[in-house]
Order: sequence, then C-alpha cells, then structure tokens
Amino acid sequence: MSFKRFIEFFPEIAEKETRRIILRNDPKIPDGEYAFVDSFCEDKDCDCRRVYFDVLQIDPEYEPIHAARISYGWESLDFYLSWSPYLPSKMAAEMKGPTLQPSQKKTLYGEQFIELFESILLVDPAYIDRIKRHYTLFKAKLGGKAIKKIYKEYDIYSPCPCGSGKK
Ligand SMILES: [Zn+2]
Repeated sequence: MSFKRFIEFFPEIAEKETRRIILRNDPKIPDGEYAFVDSFCEDKDCDCRRVYFDVLQIDPEYEPIHAARISYGWESLDFYLSWSPYLPSKMAAEMKGPTLQPSQKKTLYGEQFIELFESILLVDPAYIDRIKRHYTLFKAKLGGKAIKKIYKEYDIYSPCPCGSGKK
C-alpha cells in the first residue's frame, strides 16, 4: 500500500490546516516546532479510514527532520474488525491506533509523539473532523469506489444531499 500526503493534492488547504505544535520545556521531547503532516492511502477503491501522520520537526533554516510516523483510524474497533472476519483483534486494534508504523518502533521519541497526539489532537473533535474531511477530499480526488461508500454515510462525512448545507 502506498501513501500520499494531503498537501500534494491540496496545497492551499494543507497550508492553512496542517497542525503545528510548538514545544518549550517539554519534559520528554526536545524544544521545537512540530508539524503533523497527514497522508492517506492511494488506493482509490480502499475505504480504510486511516490517516498517517509524518511528524516533522520544523526549523526555518534547515530541511524538516522526520521525527515519527503515526497511523490512526477514527472509526470504531468494530469497523476495522469488519475488514475481514479473519483479522485478529490485535491487528484491528493496530489499524485503529494510534500506533507507530512498524518501521518506526525504534524512533527516538515515537512513543512521546503518540502521547502528544493523544493529549492534544485526539481530544479535539474539530481536529478529527478536519482529518475526516481531508480524507473525504483525498478519496474524492482519486475518484474510485471508496468515495461512493463514504458519500453514502451523509451523516458523518458530507452535507445533506437536499442542499441545505446541514449534516
Ligand atoms: Zn486504504
């Protein structure tokens, strides 16, 4: 499975909506500015409802440093279990996350960035809604089967088809 950053399709929205967190005197993570850059899977027919965050340390004078990659699924555990009746619950729980990507297990501050994500971003429903909206835009851009499934769930993802603009 390959992933693409939201910013590659929608640079203007990403410019405004990518979350940056500035840390000063945090007991666990070095001082700095960290951006949570969202990516989604590029399979146009796959409705996996997961986001992959590249956590980048931003320094205006240098190229950003890749600090961690976190995956997170915003749906219920049952949603991920329903992917396959044979999917072990441990794997479904990993799909839901938040979790470090397997190649990232040894990342220096990986667990700390997960804690940061959980304590600041995951508790912010407006932010999670933003990520869902990015996912919907991204899958609409790909134009496969996934977006048709997403649009069927009007109550969560898109305005009412009557045109009122209400969810
Ligand atoms: Zn997918």
